[in-house]
Amino acid sequence: MAATAPSAPTAPRITAVDTYDIRFPTSRELDGSDAMNPDPDYSAAYVVLRTDAGDGHEGHGFTFTIGRGNDVQVAAIDALRSQVLGRPADELCADPGTLSRDLTGDSQLRWLGPEKGVMHMAIGAVVNAVWDLAAKRAAKPLWQLLAEAEPEWLVSQVDFRYIADALTRDEALGLLVRGRQGAAERTALLREHGYPAYTTSPGWLGYGDEKLTRLARQAVADGFTQIKLKVGADLADDLRRIRVARAAVGDTIRIAIDANQRWNVDEAIEWTRALAPFDPYWIEEPTSPDDVLGHARIRAAVAPVRVATGEHVHNRIVFKQLLQAGAIDVLQIDAARVGGVNENLAILLLAAKFGIPVCPHAGGVGLCELVQHLSMFDYIALTGTTENRVIEYVDHLHQHFLTPVAVRDGRYTAPVAPGFSAAMRPESIAEFRYPDGTYWAAELEPRTQEPRTEEPRTKQKGAAA
Ligand SMILES: [Mg+2]
Repeated sequence: MAATAPSAPTAPRITAVDTYDIRFPTSRELDGSDAMNPDPDYSAAYVVLRTDAGDGHEGHGFTFTIGRGNDVQVAAIDALRSQVLGRPADELCADPGTLSRDLTGDSQLRWLGPEKGVMHMAIGAVVNAVWDLAAKRAAKPLWQLLAEAEPEWLVSQVDFRYIADALTRDEALGLLVRGRQGAAERTALLREHGYPAYTTSPGWLGYGDEKLTRLARQAVADGFTQIKLKVGADLADDLRRIRVARAAVGDTIRIAIDANQRWNVDEAIEWTRALAPFDPYWIEEPTSPDDVLGHARIRAAVAPVRVATGEHVHNRIVFKQLLQAGAIDVLQIDAARVGGVNENLAILLLAAKFGIPVCPHAGGVGLCELVQHLSMFDYIALTGTTENRVIEYVDHLHQHFLTPVAVRDGRYTAPVAPGFSAAMRPESIAEFRYPDGTYWAAELEPRTQEPRTEEPRTKQKGAAA
């Protein structure tokens, strides 16, 4: 991407940073239920950047949450507004890295992290919205914008602070220059065949055996070669469910298992070993995402079952340590957990340096839409391979997006629409905005007549805990 001349006084600027608290009532069907999160209402703290360019382009971004607290996440994005308003749009889009560094380094907000938690996720939402805007203005899907960008410029977008001991700027540049070799051929292959996916949809913990069997068989019929089961609440249940799943899909389909941080380290080792006869491909989030050395111990103890984590890893620094400690076999980036595209570039580069495959987390609203772009960039212009790499796929809530993912024969189709695929349909926002969208207004109305009990809305589900 070419450098941009300094903006004239009339150059377009960011004129609005609008935020929305959007919640979908997924807990009604136990979609998304797991051992730690039995009743999620998949939600988005959603942000729209508007400009006075008059070209109709907006930048959309969001943070994924699972219900209560989405208002806190929205407030965190609101806290960044003054840093973004008035910025020249041309400069912002030519160099999102400067905004990324400015937001991460804010001298007062930084105290709330640094580079972790609600504030950092808010930065991710805003930074991703800038990338959405940049890709729309460039008339390219984000994966293509990244894949065609000059390696020098990509390196300029990465913050090497705190990771230079594991990955220097020159090493990153070398990886990207090498990664460009054969990019044109891989772009053609990607457009024709897409990128491999696996599906989590059969394996939510709240689903019964019949539904698990039916959905697992359907996944194989749909062309998936890997499914995932939620585990970790009850060992007897897990043994029964993985037996049911293995019987449904046969021996050649990979079954990943996901404990969503449920266990202590020793418990993780014992539980994974107990399930090992059913040949689980990886154990995901066996314990706290902060426990680097715990993951290393688990990995050594449960091999050949692989250890995967990342959806709750705060930032590039923790990923660096997981890689340095030999703690993971599979690195699971999340497009909306860390500080946006810039930090995910750093993490993809770290994974490439250490030779660890990246299999993104995408169980959430809109996460499939976002993260496909990062994996496709990685394939075309960084690692050059999809071997042992799959993007998670869950088959709900895509209808709320203007350019939803297309998964065919178990593979993500390369997006063609310009942008980051982040934009939600206006009618979905109007319906599911909390608490005043049409769905929630109707849902919450009767409660104003009742005594205030403050019981969680979803408690009646009796979900697996
Ligand atoms: Mg997971």
